[in-house]
Amino acid sequence: MNIHDTFITAAGAYQARTGHAPGHLRAVLFDMDGVLYDSMPNHAKAWKMMCDEAGIDADEDEFFAYEGRTGASTINLLYRRQYGHGADEETCRRLYAIKSRNFKAMGEPVIMEGAQDAVGRVTGAGLEAVLVTGSGQASILERIARDYPGAFSLRVTAHDVVHGKPHPEPFLKGLDKAGVPAWEALAVDNAPLGVESASAAGIFTIGVRTGPLEPGSLLQAGADMEISSMTELSRLFSRLLCD
Ligand code: MG
Repeated sequence: MNIHDTFITAAGAYQARTGHAPGHLRAVLFDMDGVLYDSMPNHAKAWKMMCDEAGIDADEDEFFAYEGRTGASTINLLYRRQYGHGADEETCRRLYAIKSRNFKAMGEPVIMEGAQDAVGRVTGAGLEAVLVTGSGQASILERIARDYPGAFSLRVTAHDVVHGKPHPEPFLKGLDKAGVPAWEALAVDNAPLGVESASAAGIFTIGVRTGPLEPGSLLQAGADMEISSMTELSRLFSRLLCD
């Protein structure tokens, strides 16, 4: 099945579930890490280095599954597994500072292949491209205006929400900022927790498997459809937003 047919089938299932067809699109809500930027390998490496330094057993790939969690939540998960109890606030702060320092030392992450094209098709069709990220990393947020001209004047970041993904709040806020109902938007996220958040907000959710997740894991998290690259998304948009 080609990607446009996959979309049509998934849109039918979305309509059966929600009572709305995902039509008259007015906004696309994009996650940032692992969608607009190929930054997840650096994040995973930075986490693994911190664990090695702190004597915590971890596998680099596991951090792709935790994407979207707060730093403290990831550290608590690692602590409970290793020591049978959570980490106190001071430990969380200290270990997260090490992880952040490691990440920064790796330099600027590269733009995800196909992402500029996909976003350009959204703004080119007169739709709003909205940023919905759990990140508060200033260095990368500042790059967006330069790398994605004309897009993402509307943003939901770590500073705008009480509850992070997988809670629906980030994507609900994104809809609110764009002033559109869920069925007039699409959401694009690469992480199981992000997909869960967008889906819980009632949005037709496209899971983009840009990291080392098992095929089908984003569908399992609630995505309406799963694709394997932003280039593929661009191909879908070239049909969807021009018809
Ligand atoms: Mg992401």
